[in-house]
Amino acid sequence: MGFGFDLHPLVTGRPLILGGVTVASEVGLDGHSDADVLTHAISEALLGALALGDLGRHFPDTDPRYKGVSSLVLLGAVIELVRTRGARLVNVDATVLAQAPRLAPHLPEMAKRLAGVLDLPVDQVSVKAKSPEGLGLVGRREGIAAMAVVSVEAQ
Ligand code: MG
Repeated sequence: MGFGFDLHPLVTGRPLILGGVTVASEVGLDGHSDADVLTHAISEALLGALALGDLGRHFPDTDPRYKGVSSLVLLGAVIELVRTRGARLVNVDATVLAQAPRLAPHLPEMAKRLAGVLDLPVDQVSVKAKSPEGLGLVGRREGIAAMAVVSVEAQ
């Protein structure tokens, strides 16, 4: 099992990218890469399943190679690392916590893109969205958070 969590601030002048999908929004997530908080949470969960540290250890935000990089590229590198350690990903279950915009219409496409990178059937990649009902920093639209669990087995 692996668990991942991530949180990024919302700012103006950035696209909102979640699970590799660009979602129409007046604000986007800030970060060194494309700040795709969902893809980061899944990557962290994969690393966690094998006790390989966190995403920042593998892709430091001080490294110019990762500036503006698509997080799907990072996820692809992480799943490759998991495979080289002799593990196979079985399934992913992730939740995005966002007040706005409404993510439900985009969830199937996110699952499809993530499944493509992970080389998993799409029915083994669950992407859900929850609204915090106005509570806390996510409710005030200061940021978007994501959580993910993965299960892996020995190849
Ligand atoms: Mg992140």
